[in-house]
Amino acid sequence: MSQKVIIYPGTFDPLTYGHIDIIERGANLGDQLIVAVSLNSGKQPLFTMEERTALVMSEVEQINVKQKTTSPVIVKSFSGLLTDFATEQKATAILRGLRAVADFEYEFQMAGMNSKLGPEIETIFLMASENLQLTSARFVKEIALYDGEIKNFVPKNVLKMFKIKRKGKLL
Ligand code: ADP
Repeated sequence: MSQKVIIYPGTFDPLTYGHIDIIERGANLGDQLIVAVSLNSGKQPLFTMEERTALVMSEVEQINVKQKTTSPVIVKSFSGLLTDFATEQKATAILRGLRAVADFEYEFQMAGMNSKLGPEIETIFLMASENLQLTSARFVKEIALYDGEIKNFVPKNVLKMFKIKRKGKLL
């Protein structure tokens, strides 16, 4: 029987507890979960592709130790069309997270476009957990810019990376 591969794509600029929650909950939905870090030059990310991927990898490593999935979650990076990458990875579904109403329109359009580009790949959504509805990478970056407290939104490694950026005046 063929493996059910699910892709969770995102910019992860940077990874938050909201993303981690989706990864943990998505890990057992199929046979294999691939977290796909997108280059996304359109969004002009604060963290480089390498930094974002390394941060996701270090958290996923811990998730894999904690959870006993039959096959561990893997992390890859990609540029170009998501549906092309998904086809290349033989994925059957794209996983996305939905927070309240704010995400709906964008996610609805993206799922619609992707279903035209790759009709055989279904998009599935997980609702954000109640306590993480308001956690967003964009707001975390804004709070960090003004030296606000972000430890409740991001894991330790991400926090460290923010401190390095602040020291080097890169934020
Ligand atoms: P993108 O630039 O592709 O939207 P993001 O890194 O911003 O990438 O988000 C990746 C996915 O994670 C999106 O589906 C987004 O809605 C979801 N997501 C982000 N934050 C949360 C959260 N707090 N709870 C649930 N899902 C979330």
